[in-house]
Amino acid sequence: MKFFAFLFAFSFLFPGFVHSQENTNKNKFRQLKQEFATPNVYRTASGAPGHEYWQQKADYKIDVKLDDDKQRIFGEETITYHNQSPDPLSYIWMQLDQNIRAKDSDTQKTSTSKLSDRVPTYQLQRMIKNDFDGGFKIDFVKDKNGKPLPYTINKTMMRVDLPEPLQPGKILQFSVKWWYNINNMMEDRGRSGYEHFEKDGNNVYTIAQFYPRMCVYNDVEGWQNKQFLGTGEFTLPFGDFEVSITSPADHIVGATGILQNPNAVLTQEQMDLLKKAKNAKKPVIIVSQEEAEKAEKGNSKKEKTWIFKANDVRDFAFASSRKFIWDAMGVKFGDRTVMAMSYYPKEGNPLWEQYSTRVVAHTIKTYSQHTFDYPYPVAISVSNNYVGGMEYPMICFNSTRPQSDGTYSERAKYSLISVIIHEVGHNFFPMIVNSDERQWTWMDEGLNTFMQFLTEQAWEYGFPSRAGQAYKIVDYMRGDKKFMSPIMTNSESVWNLGSNAYSKPTTALNILRETVMGRDLFDFAFKEYANRWKFKHPTPEDFFRTMEDASGVDLDWFWRGWFYTTDNVDISLENVTWFQPDSENPEIDKPLAKKEDESKLAITDIQNKPDIENTAVERDPDTHDFYTTFDKYKITKQDKEQYKKLLSGFTDDEKEILNGKYNFYQIDFKNIGGLVMPIILEFTFTDGTSDVQRIPAEIWRRNNEEVSKVFVFDKEVSNIILDPFYETADVDMNNNYWPPKVEPTRFEIYKSQFGRRRGGGGSNPMQQSSSDK
Ligand SMILES: [Zn+2]
Repeated sequence: MKFFAFLFAFSFLFPGFVHSQENTNKNKFRQLKQEFATPNVYRTASGAPGHEYWQQKADYKIDVKLDDDKQRIFGEETITYHNQSPDPLSYIWMQLDQNIRAKDSDTQKTSTSKLSDRVPTYQLQRMIKNDFDGGFKIDFVKDKNGKPLPYTINKTMMRVDLPEPLQPGKILQFSVKWWYNINNMMEDRGRSGYEHFEKDGNNVYTIAQFYPRMCVYNDVEGWQNKQFLGTGEFTLPFGDFEVSITSPADHIVGATGILQNPNAVLTQEQMDLLKKAKNAKKPVIIVSQEEAEKAEKGNSKKEKTWIFKANDVRDFAFASSRKFIWDAMGVKFGDRTVMAMSYYPKEGNPLWEQYSTRVVAHTIKTYSQHTFDYPYPVAISVSNNYVGGMEYPMICFNSTRPQSDGTYSERAKYSLISVIIHEVGHNFFPMIVNSDERQWTWMDEGLNTFMQFLTEQAWEYGFPSRAGQAYKIVDYMRGDKKFMSPIMTNSESVWNLGSNAYSKPTTALNILRETVMGRDLFDFAFKEYANRWKFKHPTPEDFFRTMEDASGVDLDWFWRGWFYTTDNVDISLENVTWFQPDSENPEIDKPLAKKEDESKLAITDIQNKPDIENTAVERDPDTHDFYTTFDKYKITKQDKEQYKKLLSGFTDDEKEILNGKYNFYQIDFKNIGGLVMPIILEFTFTDGTSDVQRIPAEIWRRNNEEVSKVFVFDKEVSNIILDPFYETADVDMNNNYWPPKVEPTRFEIYKSQFGRRRGGGGSNPMQQSSSDK
């Protein structure tokens, strides 16, 4: 196409016509003033803790006994609660998380159910009868003088009334005694419990939420008042722990913190090996498979008490079994050595021995680079095949083992590495950067899964990460909005938790890092957030604000779109119009115009020629005048003079434009999905070269729905791709090409009427290759 009269037309080409907005400002770039809490002396507008920021502290001294015969926990604790708030407290609240297993718990009552063609037996059994007598049995709550304190149990929470208000700056000391039945995780799943091994009759205990824990009292919620229903995890204050765990004498116990009495529970050889492991380059076996296999044949009636101490932690968990193999390796942080360790039964080998501790070490190192040095003395991964993955300070429980013949699928290998990275990574979010999990799952899961992605990619090039890359979220984002929640939805109310609270925020953060902010700005701001809020309690605003404050990038539009709505990205390359300026040279323009006109023979012109022998004008010369024979394409003297005159007023640069040096491409974009995003374009030219242009999202700041922009090249464009590197999670790539191109959609064919098995570990070529022999 060739027209375009004056060069000067540029100036008024794109005033960015104002789209009619209603009187209410719905612009996607408006600031998040209504959505955000007002900054104050506790939390500043910059996203940092304010000058009067405070938080509570709860120290625990716990004695707990594991009854391996009846699978019970008996415990007694003394809590020292520091009221560091400016407020007097007339009561305190505790969490009784085990109570979700109580027979009359709201968790059972409010869990929705439907019967489909595939129902796991444990769900059916739960519907038929629920005879597990779970939940805390509280023996007493007493003050420091042994006087009973009145308490009220409200489902998963317990209020303890104080004889007089606990004043700011004062300490409350009280004790609680309790016991409970431990759940069998094979029947009932759960975040903690025991796994039973039919063959040898032993159990692997992975024990957590095992003691009544203090609720958080803070400046944003007051006392936590959201019950534990099962999905929204935990909200816990920091404190120092001293925990004595009494287990059968032939058990190996791993826990949050440092073992205080190794002489009483370990052999001299084990202590020597631990010492050796500190400086070892690879994991050192502390308890071997041979020793563990020997131990699992016994059933000691004697007991041993393991004492652990942990400071600045928000929780405590432990694992205990006579089946445990134990390995360890030191990880250096300056002159500090952190012990990366693993506990697993023989069923975990060979995968666990080869990978677990190495992955623990890799995780704390990689996360530290992006946040702060891992501050705790140990980092532990424990094998329990029914937990999925669950995190606690310094210790986490992880599923996935090889098959009984010791072979495993590729999927099993990578899912073990992934889950260990993920759960060890949780030390950073939320164990240290202690967000409120009961309110916001994404604040720990989203940030942690994002860090997991970086750590996986640093483990092995091309690691099959399930979340991170923008294109992996496309199927979810394209899905039915009815089953989506904005990321900013309370943990218990989120639809599709995995996609919404894990993958989507992970993807959003990766898009910020790779596309919106760039790695340098993002990494600095993310690290700043981690450092500002380590050992503190951040809110979503603290994160959003810090990311902007430390990077100098206003991201309100991004948070608004990605975190407060269920919109998706679908930008279409609506129209591409190729302009070249007229040369204004009659010797060029006139023959061209003639050729263009003659090429436009339309249907009537074609049909009329042979049909009408003589038109009126042809028949009657009296109808002729000047224009009957006038050739408008003929170059006149006047034309030439005009051109000469025009040229004399032009600079050399302007003359180059007239001479056709440049091609102008006007591209019209449409925002179909709703999310405003940067526009990334790859232009390929007829000479085979290409050029990538990156336009910030602010191009949409006036008109959020349609924008146009002219691109100028001295080459001719042969094709254009919008989002060529799949980095914006555009849900429809069919409208991203010029000339148009249709992306093939693949579909999978399968025969089984029950569909494919999920999480079954994938195909196992290790097994095939051994049977091939
Ligand atoms: Zn997680």
